[in-house]
Amino acid sequence: MARVRLENIKRKFNNVTAIEDISFDIPDGEFWVLVGPSGCGKSTILRTIAGLETATSGRLYIGDELINDVPARQRDVAMVFQNYALYPHMTVAENIAFGLRMRKVDPKMIKERVVAVARSLSLEHLLERKPKQLSGGQQQRVALGRAIARQPQVFLLDEPLSNLDAQLRDDTRAELKELHQNLGVTTIYVTHDQVEAMTLADKIVVLERGRIQQIGEPQTIYAKP
Ligand code: ADP
Ligand code: ADP
Repeated sequence: MARVRLENIKRKFNNVTAIEDISFDIPDGEFWVLVGPSGCGKSTILRTIAGLETATSGRLYIGDELINDVPARQRDVAMVFQNYALYPHMTVAENIAFGLRMRKVDPKMIKERVVAVARSLSLEHLLERKPKQLSGGQQQRVALGRAIARQPQVFLLDEPLSNLDAQLRDDTRAELKELHQNLGVTTIYVTHDQVEAMTLADKIVVLERGRIQQIGEPQTIYAKP
């Protein structure tokens, strides 16, 4: 886990400013949630931290390291997407192992890690299946497994539960909270869902039109007037 610090991050696409003046400082191991209407810049912030977008200006630190120019692959960050983005031709085991194989981790170690991760997400019995042979909730757990297998310093989740039905969403939210408590990894989570934000967040960042409107604890942000 690591501290994540953004200083005046801005990202422009041609003439459109997607985000600007984005500054926050997340202590080691905390769980922060980004909320705001569609188009307010939540995904752009996550993608910039992951290295999938480049900041137009500003400074981005993980731990003490300035990472603006560090390629995505070398960042100690794992991201989970709304649509899971699993590799369809690979088994569950291969999907979970993917990030480790890319990093040339010893095969014996990979095998052990895959089994441990699968066990922690109740996927042991599904390791040889392909993604299309899984339910939505199972696919989402594989996506989480692929991300945590690498033991990243920072975990980025972009509306990971929004494709699940209500019951599954509640269960998976509880699992996520437990996973975070066990791993203690610094997490940034994007959602539209106030219940998710309330249940999961140490701090909530409220965004509007690419700018931070408010940062605070859930009870402050959602206090009854
Ligand atoms: P959110 O995740 O909150 O829905 P996004 O970060 O996806 O918002 O988008 C923020 C703004 O930036 C939107 O106006 C969106 O259209 C724009 N934007 C995002 N990505 C691109 C891109 N690749 N090219 C042009 N505009 C983009
Ligand atoms: P979200 O679920 O965050 O609203 P979108 O569907 O808006 O996501 O965006 C999905 C992808 O399209 C992202 O990679 C984003 O950067 C890109 N994108 C968003 N808005 C635009 C845009 N106006 N022009 C080009 N790409 C965009």
